[in-house]
Amino acid sequence: MTESHVDLEQFMDGVKRRNPGELEFHQAVHDVASDIFEFIQDKAVYHEAQILRRLAEPDRVISFRVCWQDDLGNVRVQRGYRVQNSNAIGPYKGGLRFHKSVNQSILKFLAFEQTFKNSLTGLPMGGGKGGSDFNPKGKSDNEIMRFCQSFMTELYRHVGEVTDVPAGDIGVGAKEIGYMFGQYKRITNRYVGVLTGKGLSWGGSLVRTEATGYGLIYFVENMLEHRGDSFTNKTVCVSGAGNVALHAAEKAIGLGAKVITLSDSSGFIHDPEGFDQNKIHWLKEHKLKHQGSIAEYVEQFPEASFHQAEKPWHIPCDIALPCATQNEIGQDDAIALINNGVMLVAEGANMPCTTEAVHTFREARIGFGPAKAANAGGVAVSGLEMSQNSARMSWDEVKLHELLRDIMKDIHERCRSHGVLADGYVDYAKGANIAGFKKVADAMLAFGI
Ligand code: GLU
Repeated sequence: MTESHVDLEQFMDGVKRRNPGELEFHQAVHDVASDIFEFIQDKAVYHEAQILRRLAEPDRVISFRVCWQDDLGNVRVQRGYRVQNSNAIGPYKGGLRFHKSVNQSILKFLAFEQTFKNSLTGLPMGGGKGGSDFNPKGKSDNEIMRFCQSFMTELYRHVGEVTDVPAGDIGVGAKEIGYMFGQYKRITNRYVGVLTGKGLSWGGSLVRTEATGYGLIYFVENMLEHRGDSFTNKTVCVSGAGNVALHAAEKAIGLGAKVITLSDSSGFIHDPEGFDQNKIHWLKEHKLKHQGSIAEYVEQFPEASFHQAEKPWHIPCDIALPCATQNEIGQDDAIALINNGVMLVAEGANMPCTTEAVHTFREARIGFGPAKAANAGGVAVSGLEMSQNSARMSWDEVKLHELLRDIMKDIHERCRSHGVLADGYVDYAKGANIAGFKKVADAMLAFGI
């Protein structure tokens, strides 16, 4: 049977049967497929080549055991993964996540999403994702180093500068990339751009650290401009307090917004006066350098309040930027945001809004920037790091900021042109799915079966 004879429900039944229990993967495939089915309705060529069915089947899922020794001398065993979803338009590219929640379903959903995200950047990168259920929280530097080395001792045979180029994600920052790059170099005796997010003195790119957060704000700036508006005096709720959240907050403040919340796994902080660059600097030191808890912010800045084990979505705001993790905005949160007058929501994390929440925003005609477009700035600058590595040179900060801004503008335009509906509402989620899909699909068609 070809795809033209299968409806969305039948298609999803097949995905669920072949990937039992992988709920996050089902969710991601469903959300893309519902837009793509509509788009390819009258395009027989995509149906006949079973393009969507092929994209929802990762090229490869590599799964391996990682043994390492903790500081007490105990042998610890973890599972490591690399999901190589599609290399139709370039080498597999995507981050590595170290978090206790990591499993095959989450990495398959992330690798699937990454394929469309990377396509949207306009750069030649395929989609992949990897990681481990290793929990870096509370581990010593030596433990993290030993884990990263063991992880790379297995991963090195599956990656390479023209094969698959991992980077960071939750739990993997410059330190972990350093340990893994060192181990790759030690084993292979090759000094190449096999990872991105590297340190500046050993092949990294300027602006990579800020890129996801700044890129998110550039994307939202384009959404606002399209409505004849700007960030000036907008109230913004951000969740998360990692690299993405803090850089997004920093840039939004720089553009005249008032950012009033941030969060971590312990709860959220509400600073009604708004964060300034000094407060963001304190948070960067406290969270990114020392892995402290956000609760301690209120001791430093008593004008703020801490809300234990709560999310910030019932605080009234103009713009909501979920930058923590998947499924952090559910249906009730979406309704609370809408009732409190939110005008734009854009995803800094990957899939932070549930399917129902996204549907609710789209139905209510709230501007919605999906992750694969809105947070693509990080991987885009990773792509620029790859270019600099291949050319054996490095670009300056001014050029990189300009390139990032232009890429986010182009992504916005790609989403807009494929997402504008009859009533004028721009359905960015639909536009992102279609534009991301089309480029990959056309490459697949060119290669034959
Ligand atoms: N983990 C980031 C993402 O979700 C960056 C990936 C990369 O730089 O390869 O897009």
